[in-house]
Amino acid sequence: MTTIFLKPKKEESLLRFHPWVFSGAILRTEGKPKEGDLVRVVDKDGNFLALGHYQIGSITVRIVSFDERDIDAGFWNDRIRQAYEVRKSLALVNPEYNNTYRLIHGEGDLLPGLIIDIYEDTAVMQAHSVGMHEIRQTIAEAIINNIPEVKNVYYKSEATLPYKAPITPEDGYLIGEAGGDYTALENGLRFHVDWLRGQKTGFFIDQRDNRSLLEHYANGRSVLNMFCYTGGFSVYAMRGNAKLVHSVDSSAKAIELTNKNIALNFANDNRHEAFAEDAFKYFSENNQKYDLIILDPPAFAKHRDALRNALKGYKRLNAKAFEQIKPEGILFTFSCSQVVTKEQFRLAVFSAAAESKRSVRILHQLTQPADHPINIYHPEGEYLKGLVLWVE
Ligand code: SAH
Repeated sequence: MTTIFLKPKKEESLLRFHPWVFSGAILRTEGKPKEGDLVRVVDKDGNFLALGHYQIGSITVRIVSFDERDIDAGFWNDRIRQAYEVRKSLALVNPEYNNTYRLIHGEGDLLPGLIIDIYEDTAVMQAHSVGMHEIRQTIAEAIINNIPEVKNVYYKSEATLPYKAPITPEDGYLIGEAGGDYTALENGLRFHVDWLRGQKTGFFIDQRDNRSLLEHYANGRSVLNMFCYTGGFSVYAMRGNAKLVHSVDSSAKAIELTNKNIALNFANDNRHEAFAEDAFKYFSENNQKYDLIILDPPAFAKHRDALRNALKGYKRLNAKAFEQIKPEGILFTFSCSQVVTKEQFRLAVFSAAAESKRSVRILHQLTQPADHPINIYHPEGEYLKGLVLWVE
């Protein structure tokens, strides 16, 4: 196995369990690792620090273990079982009420580069590193061995692996095959999930708790769910007795999914209407005002270079919402851009509020749910930020 020696003092972040080694920290390499290989990381004197997957780029090693042990089938079984036990003890595994949850959330579950979402009997797995790609079959077997409900494992990494890596991943089932149309259960509500064609693993599980909060505030209100995708917030607003729910998304496929999900839970209920329309166009061409608006846009900044424009985008979007929200309205506003900090997002929303000259109070500060945990040693993992505002 290749050994990577770190420069003096560069071992400190690993001793504090930060799971990445940057290229600038490396003193020398003993061996010729290929991208995806397991490597040993040691300090300048050769003292063991960690084991991780080697990759080409500024993050050179992603740590999978701070213990010196075999990274074999037993290791993957242990990690998958531990993650499952945590989800079970958080009451997320319940066939009658909730069978949809994230099993592995990368660094948050001490497995950088790996995402696994569970939809009842099917696991959808995404690798973000070549190391995780290479070990995919062993991971799939560990899922089947440790989670009695799961029968199928679908691998979906064509779009997530580093595009320069010398591999040609193919999406497909690693184990089993789920048939036909599929519905997932989240907090007692049903959703069509299409991991073959949908975005990410097919459903945004990370908004589960925030959707529940919205349900509490929907009673008697007119609701606009902007960037609705599968209509998650809309379905909760309907159960929360909203007076009217409008869902908007620029993708016609998303609108079709939203309508299907509303029909699945609230057949023949005419409180809901969906529009395939660009968000800014909808706001500027529609004079309708709402009691409650949700803004959950896609990540405006995927890289640090895009940060300034992203912050402008958040400000512009939120300014539109402040214009179209009724007095005593409630705004749920989110950012899922990892490079935008909580403070930067809040400042963008603050600027939009100030422009509107309306009195605005923060009711809640939201983040991602318990099955998307943040490794305390890796604060970069906190990507979802939300504010619930009272707008006078
Ligand atoms: N709120 C959703 C997730 C939103 S994902 C949930 O709870 O599951 C972001 C969505 O924004 C995608 O469905 C995408 O199609 C849509 N979108 C992207 N750009 C848009 C635009 N300019 N106007 C409207 N919708 C847009």
